[in-house]
Amino acid sequence: MSNRREFLKYSALFGAAATTLSSVSASFGDDPPKNSVTTGNTYTVSMHSIRTPPAPARSITIPDVDGFKVLKGDFHIHTLFSDGQVMPKDRVTEAVNNGLDVIAITDHIEYRPFFSKTGRWKLNDGQANNFNLWYEIAKPEAEKRNLLLVRGTEITKSTMPPGHFNALFANDNNPIAAAVDDWRTMLKVSIDQGAFLLWNHPGWQAPKSGGIEQGAPLWFTDTHEEIYKLGQMHGIEIFNSVEHYPVVSDWCNERNLALFANSDIHPSELEQYGIQNPLRPITLVLAKERTVESVKEAFFAKRTIAWAANILWGRGPWLPALFKASVNIKAITPGTLELTNNTSLPLSVTLGGTVFDLPKNVKRQVYRAEGVQTLTVTNWMIGMNKPLEIPIGV
Ligand SMILES: [Zn+2]
Ligand SMILES: [Zn+2]
Repeated sequence: MSNRREFLKYSALFGAAATTLSSVSASFGDDPPKNSVTTGNTYTVSMHSIRTPPAPARSITIPDVDGFKVLKGDFHIHTLFSDGQVMPKDRVTEAVNNGLDVIAITDHIEYRPFFSKTGRWKLNDGQANNFNLWYEIAKPEAEKRNLLLVRGTEITKSTMPPGHFNALFANDNNPIAAAVDDWRTMLKVSIDQGAFLLWNHPGWQAPKSGGIEQGAPLWFTDTHEEIYKLGQMHGIEIFNSVEHYPVVSDWCNERNLALFANSDIHPSELEQYGIQNPLRPITLVLAKERTVESVKEAFFAKRTIAWAANILWGRGPWLPALFKASVNIKAITPGTLELTNNTSLPLSVTLGGTVFDLPKNVKRQVYRAEGVQTLTVTNWMIGMNKPLEIPIGV
């Protein structure tokens, strides 16, 4: 029902029902419930005042690292302007509730079954040919909610290679879309605009299109090598949605590329992960300031850490620096260390054969056998099969 007058009209039509309601309220005493308005023998209740208050936004504690702020982001998100199932504004709300600082909405150029010229809901020519629309619609809401919003789009080729690339920070997505028939031109036009190009879900396969075979091991194809050598690849997703590609860590170390963990979310967040799910992929960005410009600078400087499913993947020197800023290690005696995790980050540690988790703000004392010089963070990875080792030469 759209407003109170309509409700009253409805109540009048169903006078008997309204009377019954009134007699039900009488059994609790003759006073109508608090926050209600009486009119004859009907009353309206303010749903706003009796609803459950919304849960506070998820709070993710991470200290600054070497003078950089650690921003929480997701740089691969879809809406109804391609094949996602919610509006751009809802993505802003979800991100704020999840404690994120920055997102990019990256609707497909090539695939738009819902709002578009030919989709289920027709847009006029001006809107249908505007590949910045999702950004423009989300921007006022993002500003209102103090969320940083990066302009983005997904270049979505059905053959693999090249597969899918996100163009982030372009000034205008329309010239990229205008080159839709030739992916090489799309990448070039993105680069000419200073965009950051991210190779998405490298495990994505399209066997029917003559691409990488389903179930085959991932490899950095000749085509991707060519794209990389042209300077048209700056980062790769090591996590996408619920997929995880550990080999990407080595690819990024060998080629100086940035690591990403993105949701690539299509349904609502509630449907995909449940609200505020700590397993949802997040890319941590070590930025000079909490601004879009600083996020861009950090991306090109490759200061990102991927976090999903209680695992972190990072590159040197940033992953060890994040650990140093996050964990206090104190020698109580030469044989006893006390460790405290001051963050919301998941930490599983082994020290000389002792295995333990370090939950937030819990002080944990651990015996250290003679000769043990390092502790291993088993869920923070700095290379394929290479967990982070921290010297403890106390
Ligand atoms: Zn994709
Ligand atoms: Zn996508």
